[in-house]
Amino acid sequence: MIIAKDIVKYFGHNLILDKISLEVDRGEVVVIIGPSGSGKSTFLRCLNHLERINSGYIEIDGFVIEDKRLHEKHKKHSPKEIAKFCSQIGMVFQRFNLFPHMTALENVIIGPIVVNKMKKEEAIEIGLELLDKVGLKDKANSYPAQLSGGQQQRVAIARALAMKPKVMLFDEPTSALDPELVGEVLNVMKELANEGMTMLVVTHEMGFAREVADRVVFMDKGRIIEEGLPDEIFTNPKEERTRQFLQKIL
Ligand code: ATP
Ligand code: MG
Repeated sequence: MIIAKDIVKYFGHNLILDKISLEVDRGEVVVIIGPSGSGKSTFLRCLNHLERINSGYIEIDGFVIEDKRLHEKHKKHSPKEIAKFCSQIGMVFQRFNLFPHMTALENVIIGPIVVNKMKKEEAIEIGLELLDKVGLKDKANSYPAQLSGGQQQRVAIARALAMKPKVMLFDEPTSALDPELVGEVLNVMKELANEGMTMLVVTHEMGFAREVADRVVFMDKGRIIEEGLPDEIFTNPKEERTRQFLQKIL
């Protein structure tokens, strides 16, 4: 479902992603862990075209998002085609997800209405269903400032789902939340995983990773150092750097 090959990304002269390759199958949940500054967010942002890569290849559900290999084989898609495709890549960030001047429901339905030209009545119906799914039907008319951080993140997930995403990318969706609010967001993510959503999740929630992830990937300094089953990585990492990182956070 997701194919990333030899992704190289520089910011100025700084090498941020150093030949990252990762494949995620349909329905798979892959958790990425790694120290601050290792390039986790940048990698996710490259996948949904928020950042351009310097070399490498990115394909999602058969659609070539970027092909900067030496011998490009594919015809390039137009920026418009890419933008349209990427509207089906759901992304939930650490914070600042929602439009502050719109209610929860308006936040959820704006994408389908503006991007997909859906009729407002239909969008409202779907939006209310999605808010119900994340346990927030009664908050449809609340503004983000009137919601807790956990509620805001659940609205953000509903908003991403409203675009019928092929994959969901999560970038530390719970790390800005008070501890007691983390669980409600992780539960929604677990439910999505159980329904078969393809998910790539940057998180340091090891309980979630153990329970939900099919695979855990450890990144450091722009590289994938090792990957494996959650149990393998957490209880018996092969690489010393993984071991040291886990010692700090477990
Ligand atoms: P964290 O765990 O703190 O979120 P991360 O693994 O997500 O870290 P990134 O945010 O991807 O790391 O950043 C990787 C490196 O790229 C860092 O050194 C960062 O300073 C740099 N970087 C990120 N975005 C930019 C940018 N827009 N311009 C220049 N440098 C950037
Ligand atoms: Mg980050």
